[in-house]
Amino acid sequence: MLCVLGAIRAWAEPAVDLMLPRHCEHCQRPSVGWLCEDCAAALDELARAARCGTCAFPLPQARVPCARCLGRSGRLIGRFARLGTHSGILRDLVLRLKFAGRWTLSKELGNMLARDEVAAELLQAADMVVPVPLFWLRQMHRGYNQSALLAEEIAGIHGKPLVHALRRLRHTEAQSSLRSRTARARNVQGAFILRGRAQQFVGKRIVLVDDVLTSGATLRAAARALAEAHPAHVDAVVLSLADPKGRDFTTM
Ligand SMILES: [Zn+2]
Ligand SMILES: [Zn+2]
Repeated sequence: MLCVLGAIRAWAEPAVDLMLPRHCEHCQRPSVGWLCEDCAAALDELARAARCGTCAFPLPQARVPCARCLGRSGRLIGRFARLGTHSGILRDLVLRLKFAGRWTLSKELGNMLARDEVAAELLQAADMVVPVPLFWLRQMHRGYNQSALLAEEIAGIHGKPLVHALRRLRHTEAQSSLRSRTARARNVQGAFILRGRAQQFVGKRIVLVDDVLTSGATLRAAARALAEAHPAHVDAVVLSLADPKGRDFTTM
C-alpha cells in the first residue's frame, strides 16, 4: 500500500510543486519551505527548549537529570528523546500527521527529530530502530502507521536497520483520553508481543519510536515485550511529549 502511495507521490510531487504555490503546513500562508519563517522559528524554539536528558521532561537547564531521574536505574527504558512538548505548532503538526492524512510530514518531522542532540546520541549507539505498531485494523483505516514512517526516516538518516519487531494484539484507547496513570497502564498492558525470531534482539541496543509520549505506559508495554528477547538496552525517541496531567507543564 505504502509502496504504491510512495511511487505516486514520487511521480506526482515535482509536477504539483510546479503547478501550485507552496503553503505553510501550519498557518497555510504562502511559503517557500514546508513551514513559513515564523512557524519554522516557533518550531525551532520548541525543539531547543531545555529538558531532562533522561526522561525528556521540560527543565530550566538542559540535559541534567531531573529530580525524578537522579540516581534511578533499572528502568525498562533508559532514556527518552523528543523534538518538543505536545503544544502549539508541534501539537498541530503531529495531529495533521496522525489524523489528517498528512503522512508526508513524517519526512520533515523525522528529519528534525533525527537531528535532535539526545535523539542523535541514542540513534548513533543503537543496533536497530523499532517502531511502536498500530493495531492492524487501525492501520488499515488510516492507511499508514505514522510511528513506522518516522522510524523509517530517522533510521535511514543514521544508517540503522529498521526492524518491525512488535505486533499490537488489540485496539487500545488513546492514552491522552485517559486521566490516571493506572488507567493508562491497564489500557496497554499486554498489548504487544514480539514478532520474528527473538534471537535477533538478544544483547542489542534498541531505539523504540513513537509519535506522542504521555505517561510512557505505551512505550513501557512495548519495551516489556522486547525484554523477553533480552536486549542489552532500550531507549525511546518520540516527536512530542504531552503533559500527563493535561496542563501543558504549567504546574510542574
Ligand atoms: Zn506558517
Ligand atoms: Zn528526568
